[in-house]
Amino acid sequence: MSTGVSMAAPDRLELVRRFVNTLDVEDGIDAIGDAEGLSSWLSSAGLELGLPPGDDELRRAHELREALRTAALGHHDGSALPFAVTTVLDDFARRAAVSISFTPEGGWRATAGAQGVDGALGEIVLRVVDSMTAGTWPRLKICARDSCRWAFYDTSRAGTGKWCSMRLCGNRAKQEAWRDRRRTPGQDG
Ligand SMILES: [Zn+2]
Repeated sequence: MSTGVSMAAPDRLELVRRFVNTLDVEDGIDAIGDAEGLSSWLSSAGLELGLPPGDDELRRAHELREALRTAALGHHDGSALPFAVTTVLDDFARRAAVSISFTPEGGWRATAGAQGVDGALGEIVLRVVDSMTAGTWPRLKICARDSCRWAFYDTSRAGTGKWCSMRLCGNRAKQEAWRDRRRTPGQDG
């Protein structure tokens, strides 16, 4: 049975997925590994900064990214968000100085009022909030193959997709599991 897993997430969640994937775990390449990288990634995402980010802001960007990765990893089994993750998200929401304004159409809009990196990263946190409201958040997942850890959107009907790509990671994970079983003494009959 095909798991039907594809990569891109719907609407505003896609930016969150791309942010988590700024670190390519498998190749060890970090697109926001330095201040220049963070600046240019945020501006390519339409999140402009006034000033280049400082070391502390760079560290916080990495902290947010890994908190989101941990949260999305928990979506495989619906486990509770670790306290360390909610603490980070709370901190970003507070720093972002979020405000709510009502629209003439009878809706509302949340915006991050903070300047610079806090505002830009706050916008990413607001997209998580949007996705939670829309019900798409639990389908943002992290590839279950340890060496991959790529963020993907699970489009399988039952929401049970485990790998970013069945063809690559799914098959590799199965081969690795098979080899591990072969190596375990006493399992081969
Ligand atoms: Zn993968």
